[in-house]
Amino acid sequence: MMVRTATQDCLESLHVLDDGETGLKGVIAIHSTALGPAAGGCRFWRYAEREELVADAVRLARGMSYKNALAGLPFGGGKAVLLRPEEPFDRVAYFAAFGRAVAELEGRYVTAEDVGTTVADMGVVSDQTRFVAGLDAVGGRAGGDPSPWTALGVFESMKAAGAMLGIPLGDASVAVQGTGNVGAALCRLLAREGAKLIVADIEEKRAALVAREIGAVQVGVDEILEVKSDILAPCALGAVLNQRSIPRLKAGLVCGAANNQLAEEHHGDLLRDRGIVYAPDYLVNAGGIINVCAEYRGERADGVEARVMAIAPRLISVLERARHDGLASNRVADDLARAHIANVYRQGV
Ligand code: NAD
Repeated sequence: MMVRTATQDCLESLHVLDDGETGLKGVIAIHSTALGPAAGGCRFWRYAEREELVADAVRLARGMSYKNALAGLPFGGGKAVLLRPEEPFDRVAYFAAFGRAVAELEGRYVTAEDVGTTVADMGVVSDQTRFVAGLDAVGGRAGGDPSPWTALGVFESMKAAGAMLGIPLGDASVAVQGTGNVGAALCRLLAREGAKLIVADIEEKRAALVAREIGAVQVGVDEILEVKSDILAPCALGAVLNQRSIPRLKAGLVCGAANNQLAEEHHGDLLRDRGIVYAPDYLVNAGGIINVCAEYRGERADGVEARVMAIAPRLISVLERARHDGLASNRVADDLARAHIANVYRQGV
């Protein structure tokens, strides 16, 4: 196994993973440890280009720093992005090798699930290192799949922002892009509230199952972003809000779980100019990491819900400030996160 460390603009360090024996390839990007160990999940996905994988890791790691800061967690930000092999591979051996790579960082990075990884994968990682969470919950302690907590934080945020904008969820139509772990859980919460749902997933069968269960309308992946709806909830991958998609959006509110929804920072300005309210992704999707961090610190499960419920009021204060100052909401959130990191860092030195 090779773990090579490089420096990269705007990162504390980038660790390149390359293990010929198991096929493990990828990076661990550590954006900041100013607030504590860099915490962030492990993404397991296919990328056409190595540059694309690294760029994803760098942006996701930065998002984790901001997410953890705004959620008031004593953790910095990092992310692992691993290349899913094209050929058949031994999944246990692959994630054991990843666990050894995490162990080599001696606690500077704490991993958990993200797109493409499961509680079982993190179980394999935990045989190699203790710097992992997202494991099965035991004895009243926090733990388990973080996705339901992420979905709850997004749902409550959507409800609060909807109320602020005069779109009560019971009367709203919501387009959900991606019906994976978080998207499906969010759909169930929304259906219970009486929202009308429109869903799409590149795995059409997955979307069809959810649609049948909750009585949603299924549309194609090319249609979901521009379908007529009150609210759009991106719950798949990043960069969906871009130069091409923003002029075509019909929704008045964007609030979803996907990380890095804005292709670039200035796309937040474009949304503001179009009068579309954007709930900053890393602010509203912090429920999962709140649970992961509680698990890592050995805290009880019953303390998690109150912290997840604190996300929505935080969103409202960001949206109100953005409206008051005429700024894009992502810029307000970024400023708050950076100020918090700088503040805590200054107090510690
Ligand atoms: P997941 O892998 O379970 O689900 C993602 C779904 O999106 C899959 O069903 C996939 O087929 C679908 N998808 C991919 N590209 C698509 C496209 N172009 N159009 C439609 N569907 C597409 O992942 P998840 O855990 O549900 O996470 C979803 C998003 O939320 C990710 O961006 C993730 O980083 C973010 N997130 C997840 C958590 C968590 O707790 N799981 C926490 C914070 C943020």
